[in-house]
Amino acid sequence: MSIKNVTIKPGCISCGLCAFVAPELFEVTDVSRLKEGADPSQYKEKLKQAAEQCPVRVIAYTEEPENDTAKTE
Ligand code: SF4
Repeated sequence: MSIKNVTIKPGCISCGLCAFVAPELFEVTDVSRLKEGADPSQYKEKLKQAAEQCPVRVIAYTEEPENDTAKTE
């Protein structure tokens, strides 16, 4: 599965947990944001862990099967 559309919904309380759990993906300044150039599919377990542990559950993402190997980048 690959991870797509990682978003931080409004309501982040800037606790820093996601950046602690998945420093490769998140940085927390005023609120949490996905790091530029971060590849969520590479760290999906950490992403899931961060999303599950976020106290206000604002980390959203979609999981898609990797049946399409064509890269669009
Ligand atoms: S874990 Fe959730 S509330 Fe905490 S900084 Fe990350 S997105 Fe914001």
